[in-house]
Amino acid sequence: MSDNETFDAIVIGGGTVGAAAALALARTGREVALIDRKKPSEHPEDAPLDPRVVAVSPGSKRLLEALGAWRHVRPARIAAYADMQVVAGKGEVRFRATEHGLAALGWIAELPELDQALWQELQKRRRISVFAPADVQDMAIEDDEVTVVLADGQTLAGRMLLGADGAKSRVRSAAGIDVTTHHYNQRAIVAHLDTEQSNPGTAWQRFTDLGPLALLPLPEGRSSLVWSVHDDEADKLMALGDDEFLEVLAEHAEEPPFGAFTATGERHALPLIRRQSKPLASGRVALLGDAARSVHPLAGQGLNLGLADVAALLEALDGWQQANDDPTNRLARYSRRRWSDSVLVAGGIHAINETRTLGELGKHALGAGFTAMRFARPAREIFVRRACGLDEVKKAVGILAG
Ligand SMILES: Cc1cc2nc3c(=O)[nH]c(=O)nc-3n(C[C@H](O)[C@H](O)[C@H](O)COP(=O)(O)OP(=O)(O)OC[C@H]3O[C@@H](n4cnc5c(N)ncnc54)[C@H](O)[C@@H]3O)c2cc1C
Repeated sequence: MSDNETFDAIVIGGGTVGAAAALALARTGREVALIDRKKPSEHPEDAPLDPRVVAVSPGSKRLLEALGAWRHVRPARIAAYADMQVVAGKGEVRFRATEHGLAALGWIAELPELDQALWQELQKRRRISVFAPADVQDMAIEDDEVTVVLADGQTLAGRMLLGADGAKSRVRSAAGIDVTTHHYNQRAIVAHLDTEQSNPGTAWQRFTDLGPLALLPLPEGRSSLVWSVHDDEADKLMALGDDEFLEVLAEHAEEPPFGAFTATGERHALPLIRRQSKPLASGRVALLGDAARSVHPLAGQGLNLGLADVAALLEALDGWQQANDDPTNRLARYSRRRWSDSVLVAGGIHAINETRTLGELGKHALGAGFTAMRFARPAREIFVRRACGLDEVKKAVGILAG
């Protein structure tokens, strides 16, 4: 783009969701400016596994494939899971990919690996102008245009502004969009673990007395722990030595599925906060990913919801004639669709997490629900369909295929 031209979209935030949004728009012929405070750091093939791993649903993978980014994800850095088991009290439910005609129920991937894959692809796109590292000094949102002033004095003009700038979004504040916040007073303890037997590709979760404990498969048969516990318990668990920590973990996991825990990598404790923006668009501004909402990690849906935002935005903008077509109504449509979906998914996750406050009763009620699901194939089918997110991305993948 030459100076003084107007971008079709200015995207603030080049994390996984913002980078995917920029690529999606550029691949459908839009001129995009992508701004981030930083560039993703180098992620060498032999780097130790990053503690920030996420579950990528089949729908998210399909969207990343359509964007041309998934081919840059190195097979040695991801692990597929074809089996999922959830246990609460005496009840449990199991999902197998083959039962639902799928190759896998999902993939566990490091966030830096996904970011590197997306950036590798977006840097090839001549329709994307990257401003990173760059600080946003000011934003002006008018009826007919948005402008963003960078700290180095550059001024960018755009037809719309997309906020993919994470949970503490500045774009959201600049657009005057409300956000409701709920502190769970919980933290997620995450660490990579070694176990007696190698994890064969199972995502396992138990609702323990302290909170949901998940073991997700990693490359080389290791498991990623995500254990959401109350702040006080998190302090105690973080203060333990590795051996003591593994003992307490084994006690709460009850019958750890891959035998004894033999080693733990560095532990991190991440505060858990639910946020919901409403609406998800105002005038020429729309929010995506964690800027739109952040959810409890127990269902592994945060990033998947963000990538479903990208798919919905692409659909809402299908047929948009940039130069003489005000995008406001299209962004409002995007907002309505994604808001109801966010509330449904985030509300469901929230309700499951809240059963912990009912103690033993809540655990047994959940367990009874899981057991009932075990014997109800249609209910499992609906659940898997929803969790896989293939329907959400179908139209967008078609649009990207041209
Ligand atoms: C413990 C834990 C486990 C999780 N597990 C899963 C899982 O299994 N599956 C899943 O789907 N999700 C999971 N999530 C959620 C997932 O990690 C997030 O939803 C997702 O990474 C959010 O991506 P994003 O691109 O929206 O935001 P971010 O990754 O926060 O990216 C925001 C970007 O904006 C940039 N930025 C911010 N402000 C500015 C500014 N003013 N100017 C310029 N740039 C700016 C930042 O530098 C950053 O690059 C988990 C979360 C936690 C805490």
